[in-house]
Amino acid sequence: MISIKALMMATAAAVVGLGVATSVPSEAEAQQRRFIAIGTGGPTGVYFVVGNAICRMIHKEAAEGRSEGRHHGIRCSAPSTGGSTYNIGQISQGELDFGVAQSDWQYHAYNGTAPDRVLPVPELRSVFSVHPEPYHIIVANGAEIESFTDLSGKRFNIGNPGSGQRGTTEVLMAAHGINAGDFALATELTSTEQSKALCDGKIDAYGYTVGVPNSGVAVATDGCDARIINLNTDVEQGLVAETPYYAFATIPAGTYKTTSEDVTTFGVMATFVTSQAVDADLVYEVVRAVFENLDDFRRLHPAFANLDPEKMIGNGLSAPLHEGAVRYYTERGWM
Ligand code: GLU
Repeated sequence: MISIKALMMATAAAVVGLGVATSVPSEAEAQQRRFIAIGTGGPTGVYFVVGNAICRMIHKEAAEGRSEGRHHGIRCSAPSTGGSTYNIGQISQGELDFGVAQSDWQYHAYNGTAPDRVLPVPELRSVFSVHPEPYHIIVANGAEIESFTDLSGKRFNIGNPGSGQRGTTEVLMAAHGINAGDFALATELTSTEQSKALCDGKIDAYGYTVGVPNSGVAVATDGCDARIINLNTDVEQGLVAETPYYAFATIPAGTYKTTSEDVTTFGVMATFVTSQAVDADLVYEVVRAVFENLDDFRRLHPAFANLDPEKMIGNGLSAPLHEGAVRYYTERGWM
């Protein structure tokens, strides 16, 4: 199978090739071009917007062929992927330069504390955190499910391997003492497939860790009256109390057609990560592009509206900050 990176470089090379007639890059410019890949999640998720928003800020600043701007030579692509733990694995292999990952899986990858769920990656480095991600249980209209334990005997989507929600769902199952065999059916659909499957009556519920609001969730809530249930029993309270990466979260009333009241659940942060092996100048330029254009960035998704640099450089980050990021934050006087 051709790797994401090889595919991206071929595409980028083709695009550069098309431009030959109008502007021939000088030898020095061409040599300086650097292609980076950011791992995201399913195409209807918020990670996909995060990755592509970062690329947009980078390209906005790429001023080759213009008289003003930053001549960093970076070309960026943010393909759809399987999600958090997939991204972390690919970063450790050098197949992805950056990726978006849930704060719980960042923690476990860096510390090597859940080797059966995410590869231990001691060279993982954090860059910044983005939006909060409440863990949602979304249940079909008419399904008699009011709590996590009501999922026993039901058809439940536990998520595709490689996704953050797959891991978090398994943690929750273990905490509630539920095995995959307790469900009538445990499916492994992707985030893009799950809402349609719910509305088509193929599953009764799914678990999803995602920013709010999200168009994929809306397909189920607004499209076929699915509901999001509360998750605030002793079990979730225990998880929040015992771990540094879970916190209670609210999905506000009015977010979706069927959220007539606030929903209380637990959640994580979406974080942007890389590897120690990635060049510090490159990380510096990526971070700089995002923070110099943060107002534009915030406008690209409602989940980004409240992004605050002070929180972004600390919240949800357990792997050490990459030195390229530290350089920029220090220059800005934030560290
Ligand atoms: N939290 C999900 C994951 O780690 C992805 C959510 C999204 O795509 O926005 O796989």
